[in-house]
Amino acid sequence: MDGSGSTPIVMGAPTSLDPSDWGSFRVQGHRMLDDMLDYLEGIRERPVWQPIPDGVRARFREPLPAGPTDLAVVHEEFMENILPFATGNAHPGFMGWVHGGGNPDGMLAEMLAAGLNANLGGRDHVPMEVEKQIGHWARELFGFPEGATGLFVTGTSMANMIALLVARHAMVGDEVRRAGIGAFGGLVAYTSAAAHGCISQAMDLAGIGTDSLRQIPTDANHAIDVALLERAIADDRARGLRPFLIVGTAGSVDIGAIDDLQALAAIAKREDIWFHVDGAFGALGMLAPEIAPRLAGMEKADSLAFDFHKWGQVPYDAGFIMVRDGEQHLATFTNPAAYLRREKRGLAAGSPWFCDFGPDLSRGFRALKTWFTIKVHGAARMGAVISGTCELAQYMKRQVEAHPELELLAPVQLNIVCFRYRCADPDPVNAAIAADLHESGIVAPSTTVLDGQLAIRAAIVNHRTEIHDIDAAVEATIRFGRARTEVRGSLQAAREINASEP
Ligand SMILES: *Cc1c(COP(=O)(O)O)cnc(C)c1O
Repeated sequence: MDGSGSTPIVMGAPTSLDPSDWGSFRVQGHRMLDDMLDYLEGIRERPVWQPIPDGVRARFREPLPAGPTDLAVVHEEFMENILPFATGNAHPGFMGWVHGGGNPDGMLAEMLAAGLNANLGGRDHVPMEVEKQIGHWARELFGFPEGATGLFVTGTSMANMIALLVARHAMVGDEVRRAGIGAFGGLVAYTSAAAHGCISQAMDLAGIGTDSLRQIPTDANHAIDVALLERAIADDRARGLRPFLIVGTAGSVDIGAIDDLQALAAIAKREDIWFHVDGAFGALGMLAPEIAPRLAGMEKADSLAFDFHKWGQVPYDAGFIMVRDGEQHLATFTNPAAYLRREKRGLAAGSPWFCDFGPDLSRGFRALKTWFTIKVHGAARMGAVISGTCELAQYMKRQVEAHPELELLAPVQLNIVCFRYRCADPDPVNAAIAADLHESGIVAPSTTVLDGQLAIRAAIVNHRTEIHDIDAAVEATIRFGRARTEVRGSLQAAREINASEP
């Protein structure tokens, strides 16, 4: 600047990101909505999953676009290159890992939430009340007291991590937040050998270390061996260590086992140890009258982690953490910051805020899709969906047991069936069958290893799955199993012939 005058502000290209023509944008928006409704309505006609063609993958290695592209063109690209090559967990044939199917009402709610663009870190607005409403419902469902807190997070991995931090804080006190965990040696936690890997990861991330997690062997039902747990606690106490956390599992990820939560609650109470339940998918079994009694003891937990995005069918992501003593939860995370000052009135009221209960400050409106899903369908129907998946699992178990070429590898306790095709050298063959099933587009199970044996694992979570999807899964497994063993058999025969020739 030479001081001769201010630079005039030049109004150049428009900086608003809103459409210049709302009329045509509206038409395009309706087209996009229709495409997604078509996708969900016709999902059965599609393959569950299909391999990504090289040309499609290459579409996502483009340089940063400097200029604009018409929304209709970008949408077309989505329809062509993204939609057909998604995970497929909306499809009734998807039985891999533990993936929820989502639901159309939740999808529409996501659009409404994105339109509001609410930030649920804090402040005084009704979206905050919607999240609190979900907390009230969860308290009611799980029998938690009035003072319990609830918080949406990405998933149960994060929810377990938060629970571990609250347990740590409750055990050693507020000093840990300043001095760090190094000043507090000897903390040990307990869970079963079948617990999800994120428990061990949380020990690592919290600075306590995975060596301080005792992974107690399981009993015949794949639940934690309670007697061995008690012995481990006594041994650790005798060595001067500080047991601070027991993590029970309500629905183990490999076979759907439920720990004896009553027994764990009693041990935790007697030993003055924090009792956390990882109920990632199983906790919502409370909605199903025949499953709820098997979860007895969960209501005594100090904290409970679960996902609405699995058995709850809410679109990803929607994890949730509940802490019985909300004061303990608050004391673990709350932080005074001048720019987050709370007031008695105005938008800055409503303290405490959700950012006081976890590491996230900016937070999306996950509560809305959950609220819509629960309101539209009601708790009873959501429970019926859960019961239905367990009935399908029992049906699949009977099909597996009835077929001489198949073998059941674990008891079917909830909605997960672990089995394999009987043959020589079964591990590589069954791994290949699982991949064949994926590539066929008929069904997408995953695999796990049980007692050193590779199992094809069908976790029936999706509300769209029906009996004929189970039949198709069983039939295709046998077909691919035969093809695989015949190919191997003839290769073996060919090798033997070659070897016998001079
Ligand atoms: C799925 C699952 C988790 C992890 O939950 P995310 O929502 O994927 O983070 C943890 N524990 C169990 C038992 C699970 O099934």
